[in-house]
Amino acid sequence: MTNVHDNILGLIGNTPMVRLNQVTKHIPAKVYAKLESSNPGHSTKDRIALHIIEAAEKRGLLTPGSTIIETTSGNTGFSIAMVSIIKGYKCILSVSDKTKPEKIAYLKALGAKVYICPASVPADDPRSYYEVAKRIAKETPNSIYINQYFNELNIDAHYQSTGPEIWEQTDGKITHIFGCTGTGGTLSGSAKFLKEKNPDIKVIGVDADGSILKTYHETGKVDESEIHSYQIEGLGKNLIPGALLFDKIDEFVRVNDEDSAYRTREIALREAIMGGYTTGAVVQALIQYAQNNTLTEKDIIVLIFPDHGSRYISKVYSDDWMAEQGFSKNGFSSYDAVLKTEMEK
Ligand code: PMP
Repeated sequence: MTNVHDNILGLIGNTPMVRLNQVTKHIPAKVYAKLESSNPGHSTKDRIALHIIEAAEKRGLLTPGSTIIETTSGNTGFSIAMVSIIKGYKCILSVSDKTKPEKIAYLKALGAKVYICPASVPADDPRSYYEVAKRIAKETPNSIYINQYFNELNIDAHYQSTGPEIWEQTDGKITHIFGCTGTGGTLSGSAKFLKEKNPDIKVIGVDADGSILKTYHETGKVDESEIHSYQIEGLGKNLIPGALLFDKIDEFVRVNDEDSAYRTREIALREAIMGGYTTGAVVQALIQYAQNNTLTEKDIIVLIFPDHGSRYISKVYSDDWMAEQGFSKNGFSSYDAVLKTEMEK
């Protein structure tokens, strides 16, 4: 039997790549999207959930009925909940109140217990989703705390899977990789592997307007004045994650909510790829990078598309939401407006 698996976890990894033919066609390089939405939990986080939980099993830290605890903006939660079901563990998650109700419903549908915490408080506030997860982990016997922001197995999962896949899929010809950085694990692990193979590969991190990562990379300092709230989930931080290997990243590009939202919808409309909000962010980052750097036909660029658009229907794919954000000044706030502009070109 081929392509038949014992359970859903057998589908994790080995995600396909698709060439982008429209949204970046003004850039001479070949641009490929690695579709992490093809994982069974629809995001890159399936890889770390499986890797970290299996590492804990190997160390004898988990027994049937153990509890897995994590703080998550959504994707890591889905993945941990999925792995927990198959392996017979309980799953407790703390999420920020920025998380949309349908994401929370999805987590609950996968059997997770969910604590909703304010996004507006500092990371060290006892009400923050970090502190709530830590407290629950301390109070729950026979449990592990995944701690994806400071767990080096987060990097290792991508060093062992995503990086080698990209190397093989591009026949070792990749010249640039672009990845969104939340915990930093996806890009750090992939970059570590790829730079070992070829140190000339350029690694570009994508940071959010309102986050501190780009400036920290450039100056080694946190500029508190740069912190403000923003809408893109899963990208950027108000703390320095231990899973982000700054020395593997050549440059950060910072993108804003509006450009990334428009770009996400453009990718759906022109490439027929329904990606999450950070899919737009990573394409937007390449477009900004190409304005300041020379790219040629010989360049092979890989963009990591972290998750699927179905989780953002009432957010970036909603015309009402776009209008509420005031994202209409460039006339791209609705599907119709984008299509009309494209047809007029
Ligand atoms: N995009 C989305 C939608 C995410 O949820 C995340 C994870 N927080 C990322 C990008 C960034 O991935 P990583 O944590 O591996 O840096």
